[in-house]
Amino acid sequence: MITLKPKILAQSVHASARRTARAPTVGQWLAVALFGISGAAAFGLVANTAPEIIPVRVIRLDLPRPAVSVVAAEAAGFWREDRVRRGDTIGSVLARLGVDDPVALLFLRTSPSARPLYQLRPGKPLTVETDDDGRLINLRFVTGDNERLAIRRDGDGFTAETAAAPANIQLKMAVGEIRSSLFAAADAAGLPDAVTLQMADVFAGDIDFYQDLRRGDRFAVVYEMRYVDGEPIGAGRIVAAEFENRGRTIRAFLWRGEDGGENYYAQDGAPLRKAFLRSPMEFSRVTSGFSNARFHPILQDWRAHKGVDYAAPTGTPVRATGNAKVTFAGKQNGYGNVIELRHQGAFSTLYAHLSRIAPQVRSGARVAQGDVIGYVGQTGWATGPHLHYEFRLGSEQRDPLTVALPSGEPLAPAHRLAFAERAAPAALQLVLARQLSSAQLASSE
Ligand SMILES: [Zn+2]
Repeated sequence: MITLKPKILAQSVHASARRTARAPTVGQWLAVALFGISGAAAFGLVANTAPEIIPVRVIRLDLPRPAVSVVAAEAAGFWREDRVRRGDTIGSVLARLGVDDPVALLFLRTSPSARPLYQLRPGKPLTVETDDDGRLINLRFVTGDNERLAIRRDGDGFTAETAAAPANIQLKMAVGEIRSSLFAAADAAGLPDAVTLQMADVFAGDIDFYQDLRRGDRFAVVYEMRYVDGEPIGAGRIVAAEFENRGRTIRAFLWRGEDGGENYYAQDGAPLRKAFLRSPMEFSRVTSGFSNARFHPILQDWRAHKGVDYAAPTGTPVRATGNAKVTFAGKQNGYGNVIELRHQGAFSTLYAHLSRIAPQVRSGARVAQGDVIGYVGQTGWATGPHLHYEFRLGSEQRDPLTVALPSGEPLAPAHRLAFAERAAPAALQLVLARQLSSAQLASSE
């Protein structure tokens, strides 16, 4: 029986290799190409403390090695894996895996230690080892809490233990073009929402995602995806990203400091994070979507108006565009509920017509960039729910969309060289992603 086991494994490896060789899709080529350069590329951006990263295409199931001793070899059996299907019960999965073992089934159904097995989400892999009579020897399952449940035959009974399942990090790429909204483009590219929001955050100093996006804008992103036993459990950080907005291309690269701090910089080390966010509107699925007439920003003549109006549903969160001290929070004539913030360097910002001011925002309080300070409304002289936003230098109102905003901290000089060395291959990945996506588009036409 022990001779069967390597044979089964060898066959499965062989079969998947053949499949890959026969029908290479663009996605596979992309992954292969990534594998080729990634060792020095995006991985290089990650400091020593980073979790282990394995190449994109290698998916393997860790099976215990057959024991060397004859006694153990006799105990070794067949390993099989299947994924939970909709409507499955423990019994139906095990039957499919060739388990014919009423004693084991009773244990799995009644033992509190096997309880994590009840979370049979469709798609979750379940691995079993049986002897040639179908008796259960081992069972492995990753629970909903990303713990690994291991059940093992122990004499006439069974033991169960759970341990944290180690996550592997793989790099993924996505490329998109804006046709209606950023989220629609992200959905089409298969980008998780968490990564889309991260991208909006990474570029928040340069792009007002609420009103700067245009049809034809494009993005490419390389990001981490965390896997446990081949199953995606969530997105990690964006490693590199590129956004082409109204003909201007901005690139961002992750730098992880030895202290664990994470920041994004342009390829030359200039900071992506600015002293001010481009937009006071918190970006979300609701506020995304310039094609949706209801959420169209009201653009008024700047000189006459002295501010920018953002039409948005009442209750939409409004954020501080920079670190500041609150100089006013309350009612003021036509402004209605209004907040005034004083920032460094004689800059100040004003947020008017709010339905509500966040409770911690009181005169004299400090707020940080990105903090939600209030909510869109139509208090004061407003014909509909919208945020009126002003950006001033000294006593002069400026157009926040065109004023040259001061930058955040640049990368420390000591890290410049290492960063440049790591950003170069990551930039290549972005180029590669774009080329492969246009190749894919061309071949699908
Ligand atoms: Zn206004």
